[in-house]
Amino acid sequence: MEEQHNPSQRHHVVLTIIGRLALAAALGLGITGGLVWGGVVQIPRHLNPFAPLRITDEINWLTRHKLSRLERDELQCRAVLAESPLSHRPVPDRDLADGCGLSNAVEVIDASIGLSGNFTATCPLAVAWALFERNVIGQAAREYLGQDVARVLHLGTYACRNIDHRERGRRSEHATANAMDISGFVLADGKQITLRRDWNGNSRHEVFLRAVRDGACDFFDVVLSPDYNAAHHDHFHLDMGRFRACR
Ligand SMILES: [Zn+2]
Repeated sequence: MEEQHNPSQRHHVVLTIIGRLALAAALGLGITGGLVWGGVVQIPRHLNPFAPLRITDEINWLTRHKLSRLERDELQCRAVLAESPLSHRPVPDRDLADGCGLSNAVEVIDASIGLSGNFTATCPLAVAWALFERNVIGQAAREYLGQDVARVLHLGTYACRNIDHRERGRRSEHATANAMDISGFVLADGKQITLRRDWNGNSRHEVFLRAVRDGACDFFDVVLSPDYNAAHHDHFHLDMGRFRACR
């Protein structure tokens, strides 16, 4: 027979259940370790919106939020970058004249995956690069091509110019080294994959390139591929500007 409760007993039962659920949640989170939050409940750092980003953090819905916070916090950005595998050195600020200049920029000399040349980048762009090479490029290459990427071919970052080299209009994110253009990849076996040749190549190379484009959207604010327009037929444009696009 079902047990009968008067209203005050029912109230007590409900409170007990809520208390036990809260305790179970606290224990469950505590077991996984992490930072003490508010001195009461422990939550893993990658699930804690207040914990600073780390390159080795598991990627989740908070990653982009934490990345965008670095755009407003120069010191925090430098701290994250210092713990990344990117070999880099600071670049002096260059006054913004005509919408071109540098602020909080570094020169990236090397990364886990080799580069076709050094590049200058804002700190947030460099951090996004570190996350991108760690979580996307290598993984996509192993999954779709069965080997590693030896080197990324890029077309540079800083260029004092307008969007799409137009004579008039808005300055490109390249004008502040906040954008990077990627033209292809050299694989461990020496084969080259280029956007110009392989984007519509109907091969595993194409699958790889499209996976890299889609993965880039988790870290960069704007990702433009040959799907976007003819001006991007031979490169990915990746930037950390104010807009959001994944095309
Ligand atoms: Zn570009």
